[in-house]
Amino acid sequence: MIGNPVSHSLSPRMHAVAYQTLGLPYKYVAIRVDTGEVGTALDHLRAMGYTGINVTVPHKEEALAWCEDAQELAVRARAANTLNLQTKSCINTDAPGFLATLQEVPLSSKSALVLGAGGSARAIVLALMGAGFQVNLYNRTHKRAVELAEELGLSQESVLEVADPLGSALLVNTTSASLQNADLPIMWQNAGAEMVAYDLMYSKEPTPFMRAASALGLRAMDGRRMLMEQGALAFEWWTGLTAPRNEMLEALA
Ligand code: NDP
Repeated sequence: MIGNPVSHSLSPRMHAVAYQTLGLPYKYVAIRVDTGEVGTALDHLRAMGYTGINVTVPHKEEALAWCEDAQELAVRARAANTLNLQTKSCINTDAPGFLATLQEVPLSSKSALVLGAGGSARAIVLALMGAGFQVNLYNRTHKRAVELAEELGLSQESVLEVADPLGSALLVNTTSASLQNADLPIMWQNAGAEMVAYDLMYSKEPTPFMRAASALGLRAMDGRRMLMEQGALAFEWWTGLTAPRNEMLEALA
């Protein structure tokens, strides 16, 4: 896997457990690559015999540009997180990985409010729209939410001036506010009792977003299961085998 930074990543441990569980002789390592050098790094890794690559922040767009054959979803999300180096092809497993995690959560309706307008917001909004959700969008910098909505074909009425979850069955935090341990200006008082609060971020302790949701008695989730699902889908694309999901999830505990 390549990214910057990568030292904190749990992916090497998760994939090592998957290989071990199935008795596969593979190795998964994390390599820090600087912005602007992704193409050179991928050429080099390909020449060295690496076959699959995961790409994390902030290189998903550069990785997409390097590929000669990209899945339509990766192109629309402007993000390739899983590459086959030998065929120079790529897919995006973040969006379907996120959707897979929703299967286990009973939602009261197909309406969602997505917070953020960065790279992961684009993938999550695309995933939700593809699954038939009515999506609202809120971002600290309003203009970026307006631009993202325009690009993805969301109506401008869906772009909210304030983070009001009224009527939403699902609230997804794709911002990096939790990374900074910062609170978001969410109108929690308007959240329905059935609403699920989903933070893409994961850490040892519940994030401020999750703590705020739990304090109101709402169901709160972090991004651990999504990390496992996107990794499992990458594993399956590379190997053609069924990923050992339980073991991979345990490796993230
Ligand atoms: P980007 O840098 O592309 O976007 C960041 C977004 O967060 C912007 O919308 C930005 O708003 C907003 N933001 C940042 N700080 C604050 C704050 N203090 N208050 C309110 N809004 C803020 O990041 P990504 O979309 O690539 O990633 C976002 C998060 O998603 C990360 O925490 C990452 O770890 C997580 N993630 C998890 C995955 C998983 O598998 N679980 C997969 C991919 C990502 P503005 O436009 O105003 O600057």
